[in-house]
Amino acid sequence: MRRKIVVGNWKMNNTIAESETLAAEVLAALGDNFSGCEVGIAPTFLALESAGRIIEGSEVQLVAQNCHYENDGAYTGEVSARMLNAAGCSSVIIGHSERRQYFGETNATVNLRIKKALSEALNVIFCVGETLAERESGVTGSIISSQVREGLEGISDISAIVIAYEPVWAIGTGKTASSAQAEEVHLLIRTLITELYGDAAAQALRIQYGGSVKPSNAAELFAMPNIDGGLIGGASLNAADFAAIVKAASH
Ligand code: PEP
Repeated sequence: MRRKIVVGNWKMNNTIAESETLAAEVLAALGDNFSGCEVGIAPTFLALESAGRIIEGSEVQLVAQNCHYENDGAYTGEVSARMLNAAGCSSVIIGHSERRQYFGETNATVNLRIKKALSEALNVIFCVGETLAERESGVTGSIISSQVREGLEGISDISAIVIAYEPVWAIGTGKTASSAQAEEVHLLIRTLITELYGDAAAQALRIQYGGSVKPSNAAELFAMPNIDGGLIGGASLNAADFAAIVKAASH
């Protein structure tokens, strides 16, 4: 039985002080009631240390939103996996569609970043997802398949990786994939992973859904056999909503 995982991606929201407040609110809203579910929060780089101090000693994990594929050097504006590890992060999100869309990330750079994060002992939330145009032209399967294959190229052990299926058309738009639409792609990913890594690795792999998950739709999505939790954007900025989503995953 796979343990569900719910992570709040705070994106470019909240100052350091606001992040501390939200982290404290999340802890209070969660209470002790989430033992069935792994939980993480992903503040901005700037707030990792201070939000990390707030959640220290709790079961909530500190997650970063991206990392570079070198340890250090002339990469203005970037942060390395080694630095994230030293800052107390246990995981990092890689290949988010906003990184692909606005910052030129490709399957090849995503692959390099995943490899570096793993080598620095970070767990990875590896994001994949098709755009609306791709879905409408019927190429969802082949897009997801090439993102997964190329993103995992040369990686033999995927035990520290969670895949997040995030249809781009559902992120921040209020449009959620129906549970059946999401399940279809999650099953496709698990089948592909079986082909690439064998049945045991595929059955152990957690596949999160992301895209306008809210308290009102979380339970239905998380009830699907291949949906193992959620990567939550907008709703994670409200502690009560985030806690309600975690609760839906904890049953
Ligand atoms: C995300 O950015 O990972 C996400 C799923 O955002 P939202 O929940 O706001 O759609």
